[in-house]
Amino acid sequence: MHASATFSRRKDHIVVAGRLRASWPLECQRCLEPMQVEIDEPYELVFVDSEEESRALPDVFDPVVLDENGQMHLVDLFEDELILHVPNIPRHEEGSDCQRFAREHGVIDEATVGDPDEASADSPKKSPFDVLKDLNLH
Ligand SMILES: [Zn+2]
Repeated sequence: MHASATFSRRKDHIVVAGRLRASWPLECQRCLEPMQVEIDEPYELVFVDSEEESRALPDVFDPVVLDENGQMHLVDLFEDELILHVPNIPRHEEGSDCQRFAREHGVIDEATVGDPDEASADSPKKSPFDVLKDLNLH
């Protein structure tokens, strides 16, 4: 995981802004092959001393309440941010490796695509009584 951070002061608060980049190994829920989820998200957090202070902030800020020592765990914070961006049902993108993996591992059963017996069932069959039409019994 890589994170860039820029600290600045905005009015009475310390603001930390930057980008989070991470790559998570997950299992594709369609073909069950491993895949990497790339996360590259900007973030902006405001450090505050108390919950009351955080509620007073405009909604655009993501407040982080410092503990009694005026500290917080930056790694925990980044993990929380990243987890928000990890998909619940990870899948390869359409048309990428996903379908290829599926075919190679027999997940997609190609025999079910077309049934040759089904097509011939519609072809006209000769009725055994057809011969009677050709006979002039009158
Ligand atoms: Zn896949």
